[in-house]
Amino acid sequence: MTPPLIRSPFSFLSSLTVTSLLIHCPQPPSPEWLTGALVRLQQTYPDDAFEGTMRYTAVSTLTDLPVSVRPDQPQPENVKYMYYPRIKCRDCPGKLYTPGPEMGVNNFEVHLKNKQHREKVDRRVAESQGARA
Ligand SMILES: [Zn+2]
Repeated sequence: MTPPLIRSPFSFLSSLTVTSLLIHCPQPPSPEWLTGALVRLQQTYPDDAFEGTMRYTAVSTLTDLPVSVRPDQPQPENVKYMYYPRIKCRDCPGKLYTPGPEMGVNNFEVHLKNKQHREKVDRRVAESQGARA
């Protein structure tokens, strides 16, 4: 009689997945300059829903800005991997905005003024008011 096969609860994870879990957790908190800037933006745009997030991303060692690394292409030189602050707009999923200590959240504020974004916010606000009425 063969003993029952004992499987680790994590055996379905490949070692690669476990490694990436270790790399991706825990996520560091957003830097203070970002949190402060988002609080100010929220006061200016009270109806908008956004949040700061940290993404493990490829960053150029020359510019200190995120670069896009395509898996089907060789890794570019002068790239390091680090957690980089991003801003996520909850009304426009799938888009991440890159703030910076110097440029601040200016490019995200441009997004908040974007017509398509404002239409989504207005629609969400109208729906939530309709639900309450
Ligand atoms: Zn948006």
